[in-house]
Amino acid sequence: MQALAPDPEQPEPHPQPQPRPGPGPNPPPPGHINDRHPNFRDEDGRLYLVRCFACAPDKGFENYVLAVARGVCAWCGWREATGYGG
Ligand SMILES: [Zn+2]
Repeated sequence: MQALAPDPEQPEPHPQPQPRPGPGPNPPPPGHINDRHPNFRDEDGRLYLVRCFACAPDKGFENYVLAVARGVCAWCGWREATGYGG
């Protein structure tokens, strides 16, 4: 029996960089209604709810600035954890 050891002379192949899907003007991915432009996420994945599309599915309804960083709609109470209300 001989164990296969990694060869130090052979560098590991570099993984190909994957394009990061980001928020944009395109239709939202099949996630939830508010995961779309102009809403965005920080590095931790926290949703900033700039406009609530639960209130206005076509253009979104502008959220209170203090509620944006909480990811909660000040108007209808939408939040990411529950999808709606709660
Ligand atoms: Zn709302």
